[in-house]
Amino acid sequence: MNSSEFDHLLSERLAQFHQHNLLRKLRQIDGPQAIHIQIDGKPRLNFSSNDYLGLANDPALKSQAANAVALYGAGSGSSRLICGSLSVHHELETALARFKQTEAALTFSAGYAAALGAITALVGKGDVIVIDRLAHACIVDAARLSGARLLVYPHNDMDRLEQILRRLDRGAQKPSPASRARILIATESVFSMDGDLAPLRDLADLKDRYGAWLMVDEAHATGLYGPNRRGLIEDQKVSDRIEVQMGTLSKAIGSSGGFICGSRLLIDCLINRARTFIFSTAPCPASAAAAIAALQVIASPEGTHRLDHLRRLAGRFSEGMAKIGDATARSSPPATRLDPPFRAIHPWILGEESAALQMSTRLDQAGFLVPAIRFPAVAKGAARLRITFTSNHTFEEVESLLKALDPSQTT
Ligand SMILES: *Cc1c(COP(=O)(O)O)cnc(C)c1O
Repeated sequence: MNSSEFDHLLSERLAQFHQHNLLRKLRQIDGPQAIHIQIDGKPRLNFSSNDYLGLANDPALKSQAANAVALYGAGSGSSRLICGSLSVHHELETALARFKQTEAALTFSAGYAAALGAITALVGKGDVIVIDRLAHACIVDAARLSGARLLVYPHNDMDRLEQILRRLDRGAQKPSPASRARILIATESVFSMDGDLAPLRDLADLKDRYGAWLMVDEAHATGLYGPNRRGLIEDQKVSDRIEVQMGTLSKAIGSSGGFICGSRLLIDCLINRARTFIFSTAPCPASAAAAIAALQVIASPEGTHRLDHLRRLAGRFSEGMAKIGDATARSSPPATRLDPPFRAIHPWILGEESAALQMSTRLDQAGFLVPAIRFPAVAKGAARLRITFTSNHTFEEVESLLKALDPSQTT
């Protein structure tokens, strides 16, 4: 194929994306990650960041990152197994294990890499992985890559999950525990695009009953839920029942990188088998140091203060949206048996991709950054606005967003 054919094919694909309202473009942001940002020289109020505790541009994180650059340099040099296992990575892992109250932790260059590495290390051909229909792409991709049989249960549907497990149980000939197919259940705890919660206690009960393992992705819960902000696992009091706890350093923790927490044996296995750990250069020292600083802020009175503010902001928005929703019947967060203690993530499901795009454009013109979330991030026809809050927002800013969203207030 010559290059003009190649170009032709690519431009046809892009035209298709455009035609289906699924084309994405990057928006350049001038300046740091923050609530007030500049796009194309115009100010926007940002309601789309996962920097829930406003730590990404926090002075404490920045100074620790800068110290780490001074101490360790900019790069890590190699994979951790070759010569990149710098003391800052070990310090972070000790801090993460203490924070999550597990025996050990292992960090990766991203949450995506953590999922890919852990799942493919734990299950393979002949095994089974059972995931929630709305589980994050990194879990889906990892499951496919692992070679295990992939089964999907409807979102948070414990009856259907039990049916699947029962069927697997019946089908399994159990000559010896060692040769038995392993079953891994994987879910998010707080769902990234809907903001609702997985019933972790029910999941833990089921996996115990059927001899499966459970992996929980706490990307949107770490730092936010539970008495010590360890995550939903702590909030739902199942800390000692989950085999694999996964998280990212890039959301409430304000840095970048991913991690797995669990037993010492689990972590030793991952060091030996997780290919995204073995064959990838260690995370840069600055991001590890920033994450350590973030864990300190989260555990401090300042961290508590930020979270309280975020809770109140999110509560005020939920109240306001309930009114708008009642008036228009357009706001439809999915039904869930568990009400989150608070919602830092508010989906406003608009259905058609074009409807979500229109709404997002209207908000953009009014000075708000709330991107349209579309396929493949969510199902086709389930396009939405995904509104997120951080502790750096003010009540006035939340009121102004509510006003912009309220169709009765627009002409
Ligand atoms: C963001 C996210 C990840 C990936 O984490 P990164 O550190 O950004 O790679 C994994 N799972 C969920 C649910 C996420 O939202």
